[in-house]
Amino acid sequence: MADRWAKDIEAKQGLLGDSQIDDYLDNIGQRLAKVSQRPGLKYSFKAIKSFDRPGIAAFTVGGGRIYVLISFLRDVPSEAALAFTIGHEIGHNAGYHLPLQMQRRMFLDKIVSEVALLAGRIGESDWEKLVREYSDKASYLLLLEFSREDEKEADLLGVGNAFDAGWDPTAALLWTRTGSRTIMQVIDDLNKQHPSPEESYQYLSQEIKTLDKKKGLINTSQEFMQMKQRLKELSSFTRSK
Ligand SMILES: [Zn+2]
Repeated sequence: MADRWAKDIEAKQGLLGDSQIDDYLDNIGQRLAKVSQRPGLKYSFKAIKSFDRPGIAAFTVGGGRIYVLISFLRDVPSEAALAFTIGHEIGHNAGYHLPLQMQRRMFLDKIVSEVALLAGRIGESDWEKLVREYSDKASYLLLLEFSREDEKEADLLGVGNAFDAGWDPTAALLWTRTGSRTIMQVIDDLNKQHPSPEESYQYLSQEIKTLDKKKGLINTSQEFMQMKQRLKELSSFTRSK
């Protein structure tokens, strides 16, 4: 079902479709996926143009499919911060997190399907119904919310994976203290699911303390700068059109 949803989102929101940027994201993502708790999953990482809510950094539709917003790529201050964000989305996949709406729906459907069984008919799959319902309203964000516990787990998995793959975990910490982590605030405003920046600062700094000190952790890279440069070129193309 993640396939179908992915296609729908890609068609509606528009992939950037720039091989240099997608290759860069894929490189970062695969390095993180390899050290994740679910390395066997086939992951994909793509840059996507828009989303129905501003301030979103990245999201996943499950099945290892991870999208990173161009607006976020423009803002993100370091490769380590980008790695943490992608690691967070991998964490949702590695942790087998199910979006809240899906959990609710499955619970409701369990009741409904028991009635439906009695009536002799069984509806479409939960995912298909959900996608149809929400794609009409263009409010995918509702589909992408995870529980507070899952968000925290994804944060911790994200920072651990970024560290294991060689990035500086303090970027994650800075992240919770800057305005850039707007996805958290947007979602927080909507549904209070995300841990507050203060709360995530607390548990992330605790987690970072437990990590061994390594030398030569990556903060940013040549490739990161090239990705930024490429974004600039792309936006001047579209502006001059
Ligand atoms: Zn999340």
